[in-house]
Amino acid sequence: MTKGNFPVDKLKGIETPFYYYDMELLKKTLKIVKEETKKYGFIQHYAIKANANKRILELIASEGFGADCVSGNEVKAAVNAGFPASKIVFAGVGKTDKEINLALDLNIFCFNVESLPELEVINELAGKKGKLAQVAIRINPNVDAHTHEYITTGLNENKFGFGLEHLENVVEVLKSLKHIKLMGAHFHIGSQIEDISVFEPLCKKVNELQDFFEAQDIKLEHINMGGGLGIDYEDPDKNPIPDFADYFALFHKNLKLRDGQIVHFELGRSIVCQSGTLVTRTTYVKRGETKTFVILDAGMTDLIRPALYQAYHKVENISSDLPLAKYDVVGPICESSDVFVKDYSLNETRRGDILILRSAGAYGEIMASQYNCRELPKAYYSDKI
Ligand SMILES: *Cc1c(COP(=O)(O)O)cnc(C)c1O
Repeated sequence: MTKGNFPVDKLKGIETPFYYYDMELLKKTLKIVKEETKKYGFIQHYAIKANANKRILELIASEGFGADCVSGNEVKAAVNAGFPASKIVFAGVGKTDKEINLALDLNIFCFNVESLPELEVINELAGKKGKLAQVAIRINPNVDAHTHEYITTGLNENKFGFGLEHLENVVEVLKSLKHIKLMGAHFHIGSQIEDISVFEPLCKKVNELQDFFEAQDIKLEHINMGGGLGIDYEDPDKNPIPDFADYFALFHKNLKLRDGQIVHFELGRSIVCQSGTLVTRTTYVKRGETKTFVILDAGMTDLIRPALYQAYHKVENISSDLPLAKYDVVGPICESSDVFVKDYSLNETRRGDILILRSAGAYGEIMASQYNCRELPKAYYSDKI
């Protein structure tokens, strides 16, 4: 039996739970991103925090993408997977001295700096090494991404980036920092953005800011528009690859670039999400008063998004062709929030049936934990199974 692209017979023999990656889909996705960015000379840095699985990183690096990192260990993971340091950008509100020193030693392309104290520390540490640190300032544009409050990052009351009201001061301070080279400006307003029209006001804000910087006699060579493009969690078979053509065209149309300026992106989820699936077995089917629970061997420790952001993952029973029935699908973890979906229609499910949670390639495996002394989920790949 096969369902969709899933080699059910092969998956059946593997101990669950595990992540299964469709490497063909990932390759197709990367090819389209490459084609669409090439049209406009845009540069894409894959946001490693979405999925730092070694094979996935190696494939993305081998296709020529850069990397967007948010910790020193992500910078290391990027380098180990073959991303050249000259294509690594490093964001994050709390970069430690150790992380900054690591990135300076590796000569990464650019620090995306999020505060004045951070800027001063980078200047000092670069000075000690006799280096010039390349930085972009992350600006909080006060644009609403219309996404979940935990994954919106571009509004004023937010820990990320410099508020617009502080920019004049930042420009002043930058003049006095001898070990900093200002490369450009960086923006990232949130994640899982489904309505891409929210990027239009962002572009408008960026255009206004370009005027501001020009008036201050500052040349920004690089404009980094961050990531955040959403994917279709409801219907991954209909939309396995997000609409990158429309997404990049929007920026091409709305950004007023200066001569020679290069635009960068840091997409994470939209690159890897649909390629990943969490495969799990039904341990028990438990009948309650009014509900029936399907209890899986995967839980929030393997895929935390439903518990953390009330996120939805499509669930399918790939072992059953029986008529549909309603279930609450839950994990085994000792937390009431360890629920994947409620009142959900699945083919009638029995102990031992294999269920798959779709669109789990981003913020899935990488967020796994060992709570309850669980083992971390393993990963298998379509080209090596
Ligand atoms: C998380 C993050 C991204 C990637 O976001 P996606 O929604 O996965 O595309 C890009 N840039 C920064 C600074 C981030 O924090």
